[in-house]
Amino acid sequence: MRTIKRIKIDIDKCVGCRACEQACSSFHAVPGYSSNNPDRARIRVYRDEPRSMYVPVFAGNHTQAECNGRNTYTIGGKEYSECLFCRASCSSRDWFKEPDSGLPLKCDMCETDPPLATPTCVQWCPNDALTYEEVQEEGEEEEKPGEMETGLEELIRKYGLKAVIGTVARMSKGETVGREKRTI
Ligand code: SF4
Ligand code: SF4
Repeated sequence: MRTIKRIKIDIDKCVGCRACEQACSSFHAVPGYSSNNPDRARIRVYRDEPRSMYVPVFAGNHTQAECNGRNTYTIGGKEYSECLFCRASCSSRDWFKEPDSGLPLKCDMCETDPPLATPTCVQWCPNDALTYEEVQEEGEEEEKPGEMETGLEELIRKYGLKAVIGTVARMSKGETVGREKRTI
C-alpha cells in the first residue's frame, strides 16, 4: 500500500487573500520562516477581481519546452487561457521559478522530518478553501526526484555538466564564488 497525499481546492471558498502564498514561501525560506516572498511560493492564486474568481494553483513538474497548444476554458461566459491554471514550471510564465536563480519550484507537500500534520498552506488558509487528506492505494511507494536533483538537472541543462562540476569543485575548496567566499 502507498499513501497518497491530497490537497482539495474549493474555489467557491477562496477569497484571494494569498495567505497560502505567504505561508508557503515563508516555510521554504532558508533558514525557515526568515523571509516572505510570494514569488518563491509553490502555490499561486490566479485572481479575477471583477468576477470574484480566485483559483489557487499548486506547482507541479518542471517542463523545458512550452506546449504548442493554447486551449481555453470558458467560465461564466469569459474565456481563460489554460496556461493560467497549469501547474507546470515552464518558460512561458514567471510562476514557479526561484526568482534569483530561475530554478524550478515544485510543491513538495511540505515534506519534512518530523512530518507536519497538515501542509503549511492548508494550515493558514482562513476560509477552508484548502483541505488535506491522506488515502491508501494499492501499489509501491514511488521514489520521487528531490528538489536538489531537479535543480541540478536544470543547472546542467543550462550551463553544461563540466561547468557545474567545476563550480562545485571550486566551492568545495573555499574559493571565491560571486562576491562571497563560501565553504561547504
Ligand atoms: S503543500 Fe507546502 S509546498 Fe505545497 S504549496 Fe502548500 S505550503 Fe507550499
Ligand atoms: S489562503 Fe485560502 S482563501 Fe486565501 S488565497 Fe489561499 S486558498 Fe484562497
